Amino acid sequence: MSGNTRGLIHDTTPESLLLRDEVFAYASDRLGMNPPPLDAPATVSELWQMTGQTVTEEGLGGSEALALFRDKVGHATISVDHPNFLSFIPCAPTEAARLFDLIVSASSIFGGSWLEGAGAVHLENQVLSWLASEVGFPESAGGVFVQGGSLGNLSALAAARYSAGLKLKVQGKPEPRNWAFLCSKEAHSSLKAAARVLDVEIVWAPVDENGRLTGEAVAQTLAANKDHTIFAVVATSGTTNFGIVDDLRGVGEVANSNDIWFHIDGAYGLAGILSPRTRHLYDGSDLADSFIVDPHKWLFAPYDVCALVYKEPKLAHQAHTQHGEYIAVLQDGDDWNPSDFAYNLTRRTRGLPFWFSLATHGVAAYRTAVTHGIELARRIADEIESRPGLSLVRQPELSVVAFRRAGWDLDHYKRWSDLLLNRGQAFVVPSAHNGEPMTRFAIINPLTEYSELIKILDSMDEIEAD
Ligand SMILES: *Cc1c(COP(=O)(O)O)cnc(C)c1O
Repeated sequence: MSGNTRGLIHDTTPESLLLRDEVFAYASDRLGMNPPPLDAPATVSELWQMTGQTVTEEGLGGSEALALFRDKVGHATISVDHPNFLSFIPCAPTEAARLFDLIVSASSIFGGSWLEGAGAVHLENQVLSWLASEVGFPESAGGVFVQGGSLGNLSALAAARYSAGLKLKVQGKPEPRNWAFLCSKEAHSSLKAAARVLDVEIVWAPVDENGRLTGEAVAQTLAANKDHTIFAVVATSGTTNFGIVDDLRGVGEVANSNDIWFHIDGAYGLAGILSPRTRHLYDGSDLADSFIVDPHKWLFAPYDVCALVYKEPKLAHQAHTQHGEYIAVLQDGDDWNPSDFAYNLTRRTRGLPFWFSLATHGVAAYRTAVTHGIELARRIADEIESRPGLSLVRQPELSVVAFRRAGWDLDHYKRWSDLLLNRGQAFVVPSAHNGEPMTRFAIINPLTEYSELIKILDSMDEIEAD
């Protein structure tokens, strides 16, 4: 580190140029790893032993700090892009998207306003418009890339409640105190979190025997509801645990005919709309008022990015725009300020890595990559069904395969999961459905191979043996 303050920001000393090379070299090495080491977490005391105190008055120097991350603590983080990372929802960003993420960091773009970020926001908006067109939204649709699906759902629901409140106001009715939104028990936990933040209730609708929320169930639940003012109906297009797509047309028609905001949570699964194999499952998406999809899940973008799109962005704009004297200049005209469409102000142009990859490879490559996950899930599901002692919890619709081993309790799944992680083979954690333990393969990564999945299934026998 050079001693002067200017050097903090713009450092031309030989050591600094060397550090630049070292950082790029490491980034380049990491990009080239196939596969990267899976790695595993460490305890706090193990990490203290590795690092000692790193935040000091004098600083460690860049080379030492980089080495500490590269050679030590970096290995205490699991490589979610490892082809055998099969839990939760993996993240397998394209090389192009990862590369452009470096450029976003190097460029210091404020993505909240048109005034500051116009060029970048224009490109992000092209991606949002493309997603909107896949879903069947009109050209006037638009939105913003936010940090993740949780924030996307929250922001959409805030816009929905605002819009419902506005309608009542126009009719001269008072703001209700019993706001609620409707969704099913299979919906994502972020919806419960959103309800807590918004201080509203959730009205639960039952699912059918396939775990799907249907229009009929929504109609019945709405009819039976006396205690709440329901401002939104939320359907999931690809539940996280199973990949179940709700009956979007049925739910959408009921929501529309009751004049209730229809939101689709497609954080994981909306990407399936790109594949000719599953496109039909998304029939009725165009009835929604808003949707989300996380490109860091099944659209091969790096963390963290959620596309939030509104059919009528004007309502969301009214709900979310921040007004303050120091930012008043941003609100002068009718510029498209991304900050105005969600609960955020300062934002990184986090849609750009995804844009760059799309622009590089074209949409068709994405259709193929999504289809790969669907086909591999189908293939390994058939294998699971054919193996004695293994059974599918559900037939896969998208790229999640949930299954059980006869006679296993949670402890068996945990021991198996630890075995796989400890030897750096795979990351497959236990899950559960209705309190019954199970496990699942969430297949996103185009590098995930059938032969590796077979080896992982075979390794279950090692647990039985001890
Ligand atoms: C992952 C997920 C979310 C939450 O998204 P984050 O990006 O993790 O905040 C919401 N809904 C569904 C269906 C998801 O799969």
